[in-house]
Amino acid sequence: MPVETHGRALELAETHGTPLLVFSPERLQSAVDRLQAFTGRLPFPTEVYYSYKTNYLPQLCVLLSDHGIGAEVTSALEYHLARRYCTPQRIVVNGIGKMAGLLQHAATGGRPRLVNLETDTEIEHLGALTGDGDPLAVGLRACLPGVSGERGSDPSVHWRRGTPKFGWNSTGAEVIRAARTVASTPGAVLEALHIHAGSQVVSADFYEAVLTKTCTLLQRLRAAGITTVTTLDVGGGLASGWVGKRRTGPLFEALHAAGLRIPAREQKAPDLDGIAAAFQRNADRLHRLGIRRLILEPGRYLAEPAMTAVATVVAVRKDGPRRHAVLDIGTNALHCWRSDEKRPIVFAHPDTPGTATLWTVVGPLCHRSDSFGTVHGPSDLRPGTRVCLDAVGAYSVGDWIANTWMRPPVVATDGTVLWRRQDTADFLALAQDTEEATPHAG
Ligand SMILES: *Cc1c(COP(=O)(O)O)cnc(C)c1O
Repeated sequence: MPVETHGRALELAETHGTPLLVFSPERLQSAVDRLQAFTGRLPFPTEVYYSYKTNYLPQLCVLLSDHGIGAEVTSALEYHLARRYCTPQRIVVNGIGKMAGLLQHAATGGRPRLVNLETDTEIEHLGALTGDGDPLAVGLRACLPGVSGERGSDPSVHWRRGTPKFGWNSTGAEVIRAARTVASTPGAVLEALHIHAGSQVVSADFYEAVLTKTCTLLQRLRAAGITTVTTLDVGGGLASGWVGKRRTGPLFEALHAAGLRIPAREQKAPDLDGIAAAFQRNADRLHRLGIRRLILEPGRYLAEPAMTAVATVVAVRKDGPRRHAVLDIGTNALHCWRSDEKRPIVFAHPDTPGTATLWTVVGPLCHRSDSFGTVHGPSDLRPGTRVCLDAVGAYSVGDWIANTWMRPPVVATDGTVLWRRQDTADFLALAQDTEEATPHAG
């Protein structure tokens, strides 16, 4: 329960000070339970691979692994971490890191469950990686024009706003050519289609559109003689239900482009019943096109509820009608927090139950985006008051290695190393060893 978690987080802040991040195995467990209830309603056997880049706190990874959830990795570092908890057969390999060493690692340490390719360059390397032994299971990442929630702007592939940045366009000729090349590579088997199309998705319509376009692509592949695709990997992208966001779609964007400023409806919880029903409706067609199992790669859905931040109000400022509460944590440290998203913000104020005043809660940085939102709080809010910032478990601690990799060294012009380069050992040494922290973990 949210309130229990906040109470415990505030207690821990008394011992550990602030800012503080509190990991809740109970929250993670309940997200796992809800996800497994959902996958149980899907019309095909469903394998789940947790997206490591979302948050690779070892205790979180271990708990998921204990529930039979594998790892989805996008960098060599994540692959090494995942190998602590998973056999290669429970690792799905994705992402830009493949061409930065990950493919080589994945090909030498035992066959991963699946390698999803997304560029011609990766296919060129495939021949050199497969060799003897068991065939390498390969998926092709396709992007579906018109349904992508990933607004890519990667100049190498697609420029236009609204077109996805990863994978082959599902309607083009290149995807068929790519499929043929993989299919004719000795040691590789083209087992899957990979469609990671959205993020923070809440609607069943989104999946209906994804499945419709996926069926069209499967049909085109079969017409081209490709009949080995038995797995549909629908990626991640499920909203966790904890974060409110005004979501926009094509209609909204058209109106917006025409100069109409209508507020989008705020949405929060994913419509899991509706999404399961969309899969049920498309099940026969998918089955006729050869699909026998599904893969999901949730990140945010599992990790987001599992962490709460605790901060302390360090200053209270009045500025005309506005009231600012300045915290000792900023959006640079909680950079999961986007200005168009609403997460629970809860003041600890045991002596002052009044919640009459609207407070804009900000971090200590001097830039505009360092703002967490405007919420009701006690009128006589004082410095020293603790605040819980909830649902910060996704894309907060993980981003350091997934998206920026190691911290670079700082070197003076005379060559003196002022700040040593961070390496993998430094990074992982920061996390308490899983055995030490959870003695019961197997
Ligand atoms: C980031 C990512 C995920 C996880 O996405 P969420 O929105 O956090 O569920 C899954 N698959 C791939 C390929 C990704 O890049």
